[in-house]
Amino acid sequence: MKVNNAEFIISAVGPDQYPVDALPEIALAGRSNVGKSSLINRMINRKNLARTSSTPGKTQHMNYYRVNEDMYFVDFPGYGYAKVSKTQRASWGKMVEKYMAERDTLRLILLIVDLRHPPTSNDKMMFDWLKHYDLPLCVVATKADKIPKTRWPKHIKIMKQELGVLPGDNFISFSSELGLGKDELWELIESYCLP
Ligand code: GDP
Repeated sequence: MKVNNAEFIISAVGPDQYPVDALPEIALAGRSNVGKSSLINRMINRKNLARTSSTPGKTQHMNYYRVNEDMYFVDFPGYGYAKVSKTQRASWGKMVEKYMAERDTLRLILLIVDLRHPPTSNDKMMFDWLKHYDLPLCVVATKADKIPKTRWPKHIKIMKQELGVLPGDNFISFSSELGLGKDELWELIESYCLP
């Protein structure tokens, strides 16, 4: 995928702010600080379009980034941030659930996890929920550069086992630092997006 142009479009707080041009959407879910913004930046070759390490968990907004005239990346607010109140957590859940269930232009959800650690209970819940609704999904295990390559197979195995990733499910190891997995992920995204 050749990215000629990537642009921040809107931080949407609800459906009436979602774009209406019907471009395909790729949604990113993952816990706060897992590396979602870094992944977006790496995919679109920009250092800082998606803001990395903004106050984690604070935002309840869905950030839309348009890639060329082809698609949107939709960055969900990170989950699992301790300082978020129960009410905020519930409203996060409602917003995300509604989006995933009703958004016709949604093509693929990237569940971003940290390859260094086993999945959190929230990661597992998210995975189960997405599977339950049979939504198009790819688990992306990022920060791979932070562990030696010889240990990747073990970490990948644990991640897949504990999440319940089945043979045939999409799973990509990734590093925003090195660009590892980028081509593979673009190929997958294109296969879900482009006619
Ligand atoms: P977000 O909250 O999910 O958007 O997470 P960020 O993209 O802001 O990343 C959180 C922290 O992890 C930042 O300090 C990033 O530089 C770092 N980070 C993210 N991805 C990677 C990666 O693939 N490799 C390394 N080494 N660091 C990463």
